[in-house]
Amino acid sequence: MNCNHCQSELIKNCEVNVEGGLYGVKIIKKKKGLFNNVSEKTKAAVCPSCGYVAFYIDNYKEFI
Ligand SMILES: [Zn+2]
Repeated sequence: MNCNHCQSELIKNCEVNVEGGLYGVKIIKKKKGLFNNVSEKTKAAVCPSCGYVAFYIDNYKEFI
């Protein structure tokens, strides 16, 4: 995973929290059926060269 701006290697596995609390940001996709939602906690990757931040999730294949 590289920076969109300067192509440096991003530092992955940073936690995403809402300021003032420990709440993370979740990405949720509703599927058909009651208990079929997929949700995944958002992580962030930070560029050590320019400060660019990219959001990503690990289990993106669950969202297909
Ligand atoms: Zn960068």
